[in-house]
Amino acid sequence: MSFFVGLTGGIGSGKSTAGNYFKQLGIDVVNADIVARNIAKKDSIFHIKIADYFGKKSLLLDGNLDRAFIRKEIFETPEKKVWLETLLHRPIRKEIIDLLTLSASSYTVLESPLLVETGQHKLMDRILVIDVPESLQVQRTSKRDGGEKNTVQSIISSQMQRSERLEFANDIVDNTSDIKALKIKIDGLHELYLTLATQKNVQ
Ligand code: ADP
Repeated sequence: MSFFVGLTGGIGSGKSTAGNYFKQLGIDVVNADIVARNIAKKDSIFHIKIADYFGKKSLLLDGNLDRAFIRKEIFETPEKKVWLETLLHRPIRKEIIDLLTLSASSYTVLESPLLVETGQHKLMDRILVIDVPESLQVQRTSKRDGGEKNTVQSIISSQMQRSERLEFANDIVDNTSDIKALKIKIDGLHELYLTLATQKNVQ
């Protein structure tokens, strides 16, 4: 039996930073974004279907999908978003479950920006939300990506509301302070998860 921790939070909250630190602690981290990207890699059946649907403009010169183009398309046209989500939902879920099953660490983290929205949270034993105020999400994301603050703001508006996401959390890490403080909080949760995983596995 295994113990699964879902790690989520809005854009720029610090999910990847937290996920990387869990890895440093020796914990396997399955990344839902990477799974989604790999599912539609060049020459896969999903790559072909997506390129057919979105047209030639959705392909880069090297034949890979132009993710920025597709992101814009689905942002602007809700039915395209539904089409893409319907196509990819089950294969992504299956691959995530396969990777979680293969994990051999004391517990396993699933890092997913859409953990709750996709229902992946139902596969988890525990849900950890990394939380910062919106102003800090905007500040850190635009610094990281070099993007426009307005673009970040519109992504935040399209995601689940902060207060709603927090309702699903068993654990909340406030990441307004520095990265050292974040790591100390995760150290504490790591101890808790090791204990909970052991308890689950002796039941
Ligand atoms: P997410 O994966 O949730 O989008 P990231 O982990 O990429 O967020 O964090 C967003 C940006 O903020 C990154 O550049 C990261 O290095 C930085 N960051 C994360 N946590 C902190 C912190 N506590 N203090 C300062 N910068 C941080």
